[in-house]
Amino acid sequence: MSAGISPARYRERLQEAQAAVEQAGIAAMLLGVGPELEWLVGYTAVGHERLNLLIIGPGGVPTFLGPRLELAAAQHAPGLGGGTVRLETWEEQEDPYQRVPALLVPAAVRPSESRRRILVSDGLRAAFVLGLQDVLPEASWGVASTALAPLRRVKDAEEIALLRAAAEAADRVVEAVARGPLIGRSEAEVAAEVRWRLVDEGHDGAEFAIVASGPNSASPHHEPGVRLIQAGEPLLLDIGGRRAGYCSDTTRTFWLAGHDGSAPDARFVEIHLLTERAQAAARGAVRPGVTFGSIDAAARDIIVAGGYGEQFFHRLGHGIGLEVHEEPYVIGGSNEPVVDGNTFSLEPGIYLEGRYGVRIEDAVACVADGGEAFNRTPRELRVISGRP
Ligand code: ZN
Ligand code: ZN
Repeated sequence: MSAGISPARYRERLQEAQAAVEQAGIAAMLLGVGPELEWLVGYTAVGHERLNLLIIGPGGVPTFLGPRLELAAAQHAPGLGGGTVRLETWEEQEDPYQRVPALLVPAAVRPSESRRRILVSDGLRAAFVLGLQDVLPEASWGVASTALAPLRRVKDAEEIALLRAAAEAADRVVEAVARGPLIGRSEAEVAAEVRWRLVDEGHDGAEFAIVASGPNSASPHHEPGVRLIQAGEPLLLDIGGRRAGYCSDTTRTFWLAGHDGSAPDARFVEIHLLTERAQAAARGAVRPGVTFGSIDAAARDIIVAGGYGEQFFHRLGHGIGLEVHEEPYVIGGSNEPVVDGNTFSLEPGIYLEGRYGVRIEDAVACVADGGEAFNRTPRELRVISGRP
């Protein structure tokens, strides 16, 4: 549950969503368990195979239809109690889909084409969608992100504060891991440490803990394994999880000196410096009115000019909020304008296959006069001992 978001904000979000349904001239949005439901009413239901559905039509009171055995849990959700949403339950032996058409009336029976259109949450299980299609054969279907993403991507002050707190907690984990013994331990063991430290720092759990040593750092989404971390090689940490519902996501790449104090080689120093400069340029490019494509270019141009364009083969970043990857995406060619309240990652990287890689990642917010980086740990190349 997203502790920290006030009930008043949930009411406003529901109103905004309802206005979006009205404006689009569609029948309804049907939202199952997932980030849309969490954003709108603060309910992180168990889900599984039982149908949970928030039904938002163009008028009237939104309805939440859920299994009776989860009624108490639903009533505890900050945006579901208090009469803003009508709660309907279905019994175990009942077919919940049969209940849905009546809950859509009267919007769905209006004759126009658009009034037959229904948007479902992007991650709604195929089985649920098929069940809904059976009882609503006349409807046409789309995904709710077309209506909700424009709302969700502009964060309010409460969300910004939660994202900042999550980032600060992740920063403390990065620093604690970097201070500790690393050499001789497996990546998987250090990843487990990252996970408990994130929880220790108030996270609900870790979503991912990429610990990539030596040549593994050249694989952007490396899965930590049995490889033992060694002296005289880089260690890439890309860690994050959810804290009070909102995500952290930060990357730093260290050099492990070990006992003999082995310094990074010239190539590593070069690619780390380029990545650092690219990341700084991207942060400097953030302000309202620029495009996401131009932020990607600010970083990419530096890496291309440095001769490593081919080795930076992913987008610069992704939106971050209730989901670790969400809209808007910081990607080449995007003409979408950046607005005050957008929050996203900036994570350039250079990957030399078989040798090593570097990535530096902060979560940032676009604020009125520029960008605010939530992550504050040093970005320059740090040589750490890593000694046991
Ligand atoms: Zn990221
Ligand atoms: Zn990351």
